[in-house]
Amino acid sequence: MRTIEHWIGGTRSSAGSSRTSPVWNPATGEEQAEVLLASAADVDHAIAVARGAFDTWSQSSLSARTKILFRFQHLVEANLDRLAEAITDEHGKVLSDARGEVQRGLEVVEFACGIPQLLKGDYSDQVSTGVDVFSFREPLGVVAGITPFNFPAMVPMWMFPVAIACGNTFVLKPSERDPSASVLLAELWAEAGLPEGVFNVVHGDKEAVDAILDHPDVAAVSFVGSTPIARYIHQRATENGKRVQALGGAKNHAIVLPDADLDFASDHLVAAAFGSAGERCMAISAAVAVGRTGDALVEAVNAKARAVVVGSGRDAASEMGPVVTPAARERIVGLIDAGERQGGRVTVDGRRLVVPGHEDGFFVGPTVIDGVTPQMDCYTEEIFGPVLSVLRSDDVDEAIALINANPYGNGTAIFTSSGEAARRFQRGVKVGMIGVNVPVPVPMAYYSFGGWKDSLFGDKHVHGPEGVSFYTRAKVVTSRWPHVENPIGASFHFPTNA
Ligand code: NAD
Repeated sequence: MRTIEHWIGGTRSSAGSSRTSPVWNPATGEEQAEVLLASAADVDHAIAVARGAFDTWSQSSLSARTKILFRFQHLVEANLDRLAEAITDEHGKVLSDARGEVQRGLEVVEFACGIPQLLKGDYSDQVSTGVDVFSFREPLGVVAGITPFNFPAMVPMWMFPVAIACGNTFVLKPSERDPSASVLLAELWAEAGLPEGVFNVVHGDKEAVDAILDHPDVAAVSFVGSTPIARYIHQRATENGKRVQALGGAKNHAIVLPDADLDFASDHLVAAAFGSAGERCMAISAAVAVGRTGDALVEAVNAKARAVVVGSGRDAASEMGPVVTPAARERIVGLIDAGERQGGRVTVDGRRLVVPGHEDGFFVGPTVIDGVTPQMDCYTEEIFGPVLSVLRSDDVDEAIALINANPYGNGTAIFTSSGEAARRFQRGVKVGMIGVNVPVPVPMAYYSFGGWKDSLFGDKHVHGPEGVSFYTRAKVVTSRWPHVENPIGASFHFPTNA
């Protein structure tokens, strides 16, 4: 059995770990490897190594850092297929989708290549006679990233390119379900010339996470995962005096107005609900049919959902792969059962799907549940699988109220041909990322990504300008260089702008 090791101090490391966790191939159902689970002592070791690398890295010039970032960018691009294959084999998503994920992560690296511009401070000349004021930002120290299974390359890449470009050193604790992509990325950093200890990977579960949250040498924690864990991470790490951004789960609604192009809207709804088997924090899991749109929308969505090609992510014909683990499959099927029991109509049913040649894979087919109400478990729970719930509402304002009553506020979308309705929607919803005829409105790397309400704890979103702000702190310098022959005398009153 292959063992997936940590990456500490510029090399693979088995440290002292003895516990392991299985890594499945979701398409075949085989246990293909085991990943080490770090002990608290292993985490202490990685943090000590990162702490040791910080003094030199934080003092390295912007040019030196940028050169390494550009080399890393080239190497990730050159190894895109290798990374995508590792993602598909452990996560299950189709290869084209895995490539897309790496590409979106790469865009954050490209953003971070502009760090000299992003770190420019302000300068005010002659704020008082002979006095100038300027500001600059400094890195925090050792920062940590704790990431989910659903984007094993992109989500870590939301974090570490910016953190490292700002002069921090990084400890990544990726998901133990698909840990290989992070080790490949670590190797590429080493090849790009990143000094040892600046980027480290420790695999693990709660024990490793808690060791990070409690460690006095970790200055900041970026977390992406489910809401209960995000809330816990935020509470425990802030209690320990750390800066924290903790992104949680989602229930993303798309509302479809009667004036929308139904063919366009149903195409996009199906792709947004079933792409990556619905295991995206920006997947559309609730469609809200407004007014007379209802039955025609369900009919169009049903037909397209039935046509989705489900199979191994390695098969070029597949549009949707399996879900990540047997437990995930069981939970998804359980929530579809609950939806049906509670009065929903399962109009497309993926519960019993078998993919020929992959009988042991963790497959659930596209599923549509019509007639869902906000009280049903399939609505209140984040299903995180290929399930689209359809709700109805009388008008846009009622649909906005429905979205705002939901505890999550990650993403949402409207399909309409009315600019007025779109504007009312974008101003009215309490959600961080909004699409107008765009169902998965993931911001580009030079904007920041983050939701509202139970989808984010902390106040900084990831990457973009908020990422730079999160990984640095500001200094403001007020300086005077008195003319030696004519010094200005000191005064006892609080200085005013003389
Ligand atoms: P998860 O919360 O189970 O795990 C996330 C990370 O936390 C992993 O590294 C895991 O090892 C660790 N973890 C799990 N249980 C823990 C515990 N009890 N104590 C400490 N650490 C623990 O999430 P997941 O299943 O890997 O990912 C899916 C979730 O992530 C979904 O809820 C999805 O919406 C969310 N997500 C959110 C965003 C976003 O941007 N808001 C992006 C991607 C995924």
